[in-house]
Amino acid sequence: MSVEGLCQICESAPAEHQCRRCGALVCDTHYDAEAGLCTDCAAAVDGGESDSIR
Ligand SMILES: [Zn+2]
Ligand SMILES: [Zn+2]
Repeated sequence: MSVEGLCQICESAPAEHQCRRCGALVCDTHYDAEAGLCTDCAAAVDGGESDSIR
């Protein structure tokens, strides 16, 4: 089953993946395969949703 449509981040490349956090369809460039997230979510998770208190 293929994902149809354009990447919701750059809107210029065909979407090949779906973010498991926000559900956005994103191209290979904007998908973090390790995390299974779009780059937006990967940045958000990296940036401040950890357990550690700063
Ligand atoms: Zn993209
Ligand atoms: Zn996302």
